[in-house]
Amino acid sequence: MTTKYIFFTGGVLSSVGKGVTAAATGRLLRERGFKVAVQKLDPYINVDPGTMSPYQHGEVFVLDDGAETDLDLGHYERFIDIRLNKVCNVTTGQVYAEVISRERRGDYLGGTIQVIPHITNEIKRRVRLVGKTTGADIVLVEVGGTVGDIEGLPFLEAIRQMRFDLGRENTAYVHLTWLPHIGATGELKTKPTQHSVRELRSIGILPDVIVTRSDYEIDPGIQEKIALFCDVEPEAVIPMVTAPILYEIPLLLDQTGIADLLLDKMELKPRKQPDWTEWKALIEEVRKPKPVINVALVGKYVELHDAYMSVREALKHAALATGVELNLHWIHSTDLEDDLGEEKLKGMDGIIVPGGFGSRGIEGKIRTATFARENKVPYLGLCLGMQVMVIEYARNVLHYEKANSSEFDRSSPAPVIDLMPEQHDVTEKGGTMRLGLYPCHLVPGTKASEAYQTDLVEERHRHRFELNNDFRPELEEAGLICSGLSPDNRLVEITEVRDHPFMLGTQFHPEFLSRPNRPHPLFSAFIKAACERAGVCGEGAQKQE
Ligand code: GLN
Repeated sequence: MTTKYIFFTGGVLSSVGKGVTAAATGRLLRERGFKVAVQKLDPYINVDPGTMSPYQHGEVFVLDDGAETDLDLGHYERFIDIRLNKVCNVTTGQVYAEVISRERRGDYLGGTIQVIPHITNEIKRRVRLVGKTTGADIVLVEVGGTVGDIEGLPFLEAIRQMRFDLGRENTAYVHLTWLPHIGATGELKTKPTQHSVRELRSIGILPDVIVTRSDYEIDPGIQEKIALFCDVEPEAVIPMVTAPILYEIPLLLDQTGIADLLLDKMELKPRKQPDWTEWKALIEEVRKPKPVINVALVGKYVELHDAYMSVREALKHAALATGVELNLHWIHSTDLEDDLGEEKLKGMDGIIVPGGFGSRGIEGKIRTATFARENKVPYLGLCLGMQVMVIEYARNVLHYEKANSSEFDRSSPAPVIDLMPEQHDVTEKGGTMRLGLYPCHLVPGTKASEAYQTDLVEERHRHRFELNNDFRPELEEAGLICSGLSPDNRLVEITEVRDHPFMLGTQFHPEFLSRPNRPHPLFSAFIKAACERAGVCGEGAQKQE
């Protein structure tokens, strides 16, 4: 069949859940038997978010092919349970870089290069590439930002033209807005939605569906009013009230009839009835009262939880499957740089040190690893969290006082974490790390191999530094087990501490492959170890026994 495209735009405000709405809608369509893919169009000028501070843009999500992408791609992969590729995140920077390089090659044969048609054509080419490279029946395309942003205009023009290019039955437009609540009168206001739809229509896009987000129940009168003023059918105004449980959104959205409405617009019939048995069971599990475990996440961007989106989700998935309630404590690594800081870690059943770049807070993370090792608190280190664990071991077990990563101390006499040889001559920052899926052999008899229950895995990477092989024999002799290795044995991918209930670090980012119904084995093993320390046993944990 011809690939169909559903475009998601946003109005009124940003951060009202456009990504989650697109992801959940994707799930509804997948449940109806369609192959779906999702693309995010980001109007900023960076080529990708890889060079941005997490404070600016939250976590950088990494795909199998090594693309560094917006965190919404994490929502798409987790909600729909799919694996996306690099064409699924397009930025203004990528589009201009391509058009300008073609111009330099002389491809435009003397033409004047303009936003319309050259930039818009390149955007359209990239949108259509999703259908071609994924073979999806339906591609959902989310336009970042809100209608009215100057930098978003070429994207809106491109998606407007796509209805003309592909035909009415092959395209649908969904506009997501926010209904503010006026406390004094207890009213939800529709005016900002009306303005935002008017703005969209002035660009030439007539939404087929309007999704209205609100923190309060939306009564049918409001839906009718929006339908009347925005020229859509009343049933095409979809109320979406803030859900306390993130993964309940597909179930709630399905009750609104949005999926059948969209299929109808695109002249499609469901290929099968959705089967929500597993999702419903998942939500029931979330609702059940469960024993609580306390886990500390020690990072340097903790003020912004979005910077650790996938880590938090992966922890939630594993806790849910184990039958325990996760009480996550966000601890700033700089707060652990003095002796008093350790107080914050007391009473924790598990500690997680996620990825990061740069030296701020690094000593606090190293102290965290010492605390976990000495007090036998379960520890999971992700990328930088593994490197920290190795530095700590070299300093306090091998007594290399000045052991460090050459990222933080170029003249360390014991650079236990060092640049990979292939990274030495790299000067450009963007897209030059070790990125994407790499195979990893698991050493039998280790905690890693026990957790995975297999001997070869593939995981997603994003880092420049590695465990320095010069120190590997000494570290191993002193009890640091290298339990995951690249097939050529050159790179250490997983380390674990001998004689510890669970102290394990991965050079890769397992959090990117965790799913709500299929937690990542290493996260599950970590949560199980935390449960043991806490002396609690969830129902899920009993089942696994
Ligand atoms: N900064 C470290 C490196 O580049 C770790 C990166 C990370 O944690 N993603 O190797």
